Amino acid sequence: MGKVCAGEALVTPTLLITGGSRGIGAATARLAAQRGYAVCISYLRNKSAAEAVVDDILALGGRAMAIAADVGIETEVIRLFGAVNAQYGSISALVNNAGILEQQMRVDQMDAARLLRIFTTNVVGSFLCAREAVRRMSSRYGGSGGAIVNLSSGAARLGAPGEYVDYAASKGAIDTFTIGLAREVADEGIRVNAVRPGVIYTEIHADGGEPQRVDRLKATVPMQRGGQAEEVANAILWLLSDEASYVTGAILDVTGGR
Ligand code: NAP
Repeated sequence: MGKVCAGEALVTPTLLITGGSRGIGAATARLAAQRGYAVCISYLRNKSAAEAVVDDILALGGRAMAIAADVGIETEVIRLFGAVNAQYGSISALVNNAGILEQQMRVDQMDAARLLRIFTTNVVGSFLCAREAVRRMSSRYGGSGGAIVNLSSGAARLGAPGEYVDYAASKGAIDTFTIGLAREVADEGIRVNAVRPGVIYTEIHADGGEPQRVDRLKATVPMQRGGQAEEVANAILWLLSDEASYVTGAILDVTGGR
């Protein structure tokens, strides 16, 4: 995908995906590269997985880079966006995808350290990355616009009782963040939307102590199956694209009806 403005050469759109080394982020990176984006993925510690995504994209003739950066640490987020600027010049799209959950437990078992980890990565991280993106994309700062997609979760509606209410609540915060930021920057050339995946086959469920969670829950999905990361990536890429040019502040369920 490229945008041609009057009197300008074809501009390659640039996309930063946080947590792009695995799962939904990796699927989004691969699809975005196919659609013509120059892609930067960030990751926390899984360098080999991040390099594999980059290598796949380069092998197909695309542009990609990977940067280790913890989205919950402000200095690392600033360094991440600086690296994107240095390599690609500008940023036209952001996917706030990095997210974590922890061992399934009830609220009455959760300590403050865990709550801080969940909210720091899932909520503070998304705010910090969006802040850096807005400072580059917004017409208020001389930018030429852009699009942001936040990863929420169907858990924001369901609450994840007995599993991870903290995670679900952090995604509720992402829904509200999406609505507020979308309205804040709507007349500055930036669209902000969210995708709420349902149960998707990725490694995140193993972090909760139940690698087979999707198979356990698939009977509760009206479509009677779990989703694939590529199906979420399709929704994300649509929201980023000009086909969604009048869509902002939207929260799109990709849940098989759950
Ligand atoms: P995943 O397979 O566990 O991958 C998580 C990714 O985030 C990895 O690339 C990981 O990097 C990165 N990451 C974790 N903490 C980070 C941090 N502090 N800074 C930077 N990167 C970090 O997750 P997923 O299932 O694809 O989920 C992606 C997003 O979709 C998350 O926001 C999740 O909450 C949401 N979601 C997922 C589902 C589902 O069923 N899978 C459902 C609803 C919503 P490393 O590889 O270096 O660890």
